[in-house]
This record gives sequence, structure tokens and C-alpha cells, in this order.
Amino acid sequence: SRPAQLVCVIRKQFSTSNKAYSQPKEARVALLGASGGIGQPLGLLLKQSPLISHLNLYDIAHTPGVAADLSHIETRAKVAGFLGEDQLKQCLKGANVVIIPAGVPRKPGMTRDDLFNTNAGIVRDLVDACAEVCPKAMIGVITNPVSVVTPSEVLKKRGVYDPKRVFGSDNTGRGSIKYIHCRGKGPGCLESERAGDWGHSGITIIPLISQCTPPVSFPQKIGLQIYLACARCFLFAFSVVQQSPSVFLNPKPEREKLTVRIQNAGHRGGRRQGWCKAKYFATPVLLGKEGIEKNLGMGKLIDFEVNLLKAAMPELLANIKKGEEFVDKTY
Ligand code: NAD
Repeated sequence: SRPAQLVCVIRKQFSTSNKAYSQPKEARVALLGASGGIGQPLGLLLKQSPLISHLNLYDIAHTPGVAADLSHIETRAKVAGFLGEDQLKQCLKGANVVIIPAGVPRKPGMTRDDLFNTNAGIVRDLVDACAEVCPKAMIGVITNPVSVVTPSEVLKKRGVYDPKRVFGSDNTGRGSIKYIHCRGKGPGCLESERAGDWGHSGITIIPLISQCTPPVSFPQKIGLQIYLACARCFLFAFSVVQQSPSVFLNPKPEREKLTVRIQNAGHRGGRRQGWCKAKYFATPVLLGKEGIEKNLGMGKLIDFEVNLLKAAMPELLANIKKGEEFVDKTY
């Protein structure tokens, strides 16, 4: 009969034995700070990924509504909302990847130090819960001006620190966007690396224009604009987070070889070059299933860039010390 035929057709099309529909194994992502300006669009991007089986959204506000909205999108990830401290550990249970954009924006009258103390406290507590509930998870921190030092120091205190599994996120996007605007090119026309960004303190943010592919040269004025434009941007935060779970979750080896430009806690690319004394330093890395497979280093820098890095070093070291002391004093 027609209904029976119909059922048969539907079964065939949606058969789970059909290889085209086979899904990678369970893969859980927890997004902490999911209701914010970064968290909401990031949740939307993560919900698009067929590689994610569970997307847990945590915040101290609005997560039931945000989760309900995302759950209406017809994609694989099962979305759940978790609200308030009491539900944090439940949210983290079984997480393979944890992404943290939780924090407060700088308010009028708030100094950079105030902002650091508030946001570092938030990240400290969230990472502490990760250390307890999902110590093997990869942790990506977006919150400013915290980056990787505070989370790494917390994980060390807990005895579960693995430098291959903690990332800050940054973006190379803005420099590239500026170039696109200046030169009328299409997106993706320029790959650039940047190094040395810790704590969002201007001088430590250094775009490595010498590492661009294809090679580019700028009139000094445009070079300076690109340099300034790199100082703040969230686009790369998105692309990092988009790529991290895929890199981590995709079963095909070639897809695991994606290069992701993110900061990592334990990498000391410049040390070999003599002038870098920082314990924490941003370099491009290659991610695999177990976290960072390879530190790609910074490549050969031009003198101009080496001088910028040397000039940034005292501030970078001071920022790192501040992060370490914060955890020592408050943990
Ligand atoms: P936002 O204020 O819009 O959102 C922050 C969210 O964090 C809010 O939903 C808030 O409720 C939540 N939150 C606050 N305390 C929390 C806690 N204890 N636990 C869980 N959630 C908590 O801010 P935003 O625009 O989304 O930015 C978030 C952070 O990301 C900021 O620190 C910002 O500076 C940083 N940022 C980083 C980059 C980067 O490239 N690394 C780029 C852009 C923004």
C-alpha cells in the first residue's frame, strides 16, 4: 500500500546504517558565559557543527532562553542550558572541550586592574570546576584580559595541568580584514600570524606581517593601521572555537591537521631565538585529537618585528607575573 511504501522510502533515506549518515562518536562541548555578546553567536556557530553531539550552555543569566532558541535549530547537537553556580558541574560533566567567554565588560570608573581581578576571578573558578569535573578537557579561554596564565596556574595547583590542552584565543582576522578593505581583495586572501599577545596590553600585541601568505608589503601608513587594527577583534575568537572542536572531533586524520593560530600556555617559541624569556607566549600551533601536536613557532622574523617583540617583553613578563600572583594569592 502507499503508506507502507512511504515508510519504506523514509526508512531507506534515514537509515543509520547508510555510511553517508554515520556520525562521529559522542563529543561534548561546554560553553561558559553562553548568554553574552560572544557566547550567543558562538553558541549558534557551535550548533551548526555536525561533529558536536552535546552542546551545554552555562551562564549566570538567561541560559534557559538561549538554550531553548538554539535547540530549535535542526542540527545534531543536543542543547542544554545550565543556570547559576549550582549547575556548573552538571554542565561540565563529560565535556571534551570547554570554551570560556564568561566575564564582565569594563564599566565606567573601572581600571584595567579592576577588570583583571574580576574576570580572572571568574575564570579561576570556572577552570577550577573543570579541573575537578573534566580534567582532560581542552580549555579555550576568550575572556579578557585573562588569557591562558590564570587558567594554567589553577590547573597546576590542581595537579592536572597539561600545556597541550589549554588555549587562549586571539585573532588574526582583523589585520586580514583591514588588508581586504585597503586592497579591495576577497576574504581569505591573506593569512597572517601574530605573536606576543597576552593580557590585551597594547604593546604586547604584534602582528607578524613578515609571515603573511602570500607575501605582502604595505606603505608605512597602512602597516600601522593594520597593527592598530589587530589590537582588538573577536572574529578570530569565533574561528578558533569553530575550528577547535572540529579539529578535535573529526575522525579523519587529514582534517585533524588543521592549523589553528591560538595562544598556548606552554609554548616558548622565541626562547630558542634568545630574546624571549616569557613562560607564556603566543605562537601558531597544530592541533590534533590530544591537543597541541606541534608548536609551529614564529618563523623567521624581520628586524622590525624582533624589535617590537623585544620592546614588548618587559610588559609581557609583568603581565604573566600578575596572573601567577593572582592565583597564588587568591586560590
Ligand atoms: P558580555 O558581557 O556580553 O558577556 C559575558 C557573559 O559572561 C554574560 O552573559 C555574563 O552573564 C557571563 N558571566 C559573567 N560572570 C559569569 C560567571 N561567573 N559564570 C558564567 N558566566 C558569567 O561580554 P562579551 O562581549 O561576550 O565578552 C566576553 C569576554 O570576551 C570579555 O572579557 C571580552 O573582553 C572577551 N573578548 C575576547 C576576545 C578575544 O579575542 N580573546 C574578543 C572579544 C571579546
